[in-house]
Amino acid sequence: MSSHLYRDTGVVLRTYKLGEADRIVVVLTEENGKVRAVAKGVRKTMSKFGARLEPMSHVRLLLYRGRELDIVSQAESVEPLAPMLSSLDRASQGMSVLEAADQLGLEREPNRQLYRMVVGVLRTIAERPAPLVVPAFYWKLLAAEGLRPELDACVRCGARGNHGGDADGTPLVAFDLQEGGVMCRSCRSGIPISEAALDLMRATLGGRLNEALATPESPATHEVGVLATRALEHHIERRLKSVAMFEH
Ligand SMILES: [Zn+2]
Repeated sequence: MSSHLYRDTGVVLRTYKLGEADRIVVVLTEENGKVRAVAKGVRKTMSKFGARLEPMSHVRLLLYRGRELDIVSQAESVEPLAPMLSSLDRASQGMSVLEAADQLGLEREPNRQLYRMVVGVLRTIAERPAPLVVPAFYWKLLAAEGLRPELDACVRCGARGNHGGDADGTPLVAFDLQEGGVMCRSCRSGIPISEAALDLMRATLGGRLNEALATPESPATHEVGVLATRALEHHIERRLKSVAMFEH
């Protein structure tokens, strides 16, 4: 197979050293899925790539397709996301996004939705950070993977919750990762969830995202964050296991 040139736009997820002067960059691209490419001479001070290939950089790339690794021929910045993420808090939120994208993105398997979501959430973190930006991103990722959690009725017995003025409903008091949704008092297993946190999750996944993002930090936003992280980890673990089984 001869190598050939192609263009794509992507977000740098991570980089690691290769030899004395080179670096491998892992990029989530728009058209080619996750791509691993060598950036030659990138660790020299006079590198033609400058700081354009750091994690979180949004770049337009010209690449040579190689047998195992591609080679970065040109890189130009699309927008300066990384410098805006210079505060420690924003940077750590950005890193959480990159990690999740790295776990869910498949090599050379195009996933435009994932790419768009990653660019969108990095912009949001850079421009108007909020406690629920990353948790909302995680829940949206899970929903995009076909794992939208059940938030309105107990996943075991089907009892309806008591939100939205339905005073006859049953309080939903727990979230079970295995079952993928909320549970009533008599069925409960998993992680306890407050009514306020449940409301924020419904806002996030029910078309009221801006309302959720405008919510200041509170115990409920913290709860939603912890639950989002646990749910994403649970999903990735299960997927890694199923991939391992499939390969054997
Ligand atoms: Zn129940």
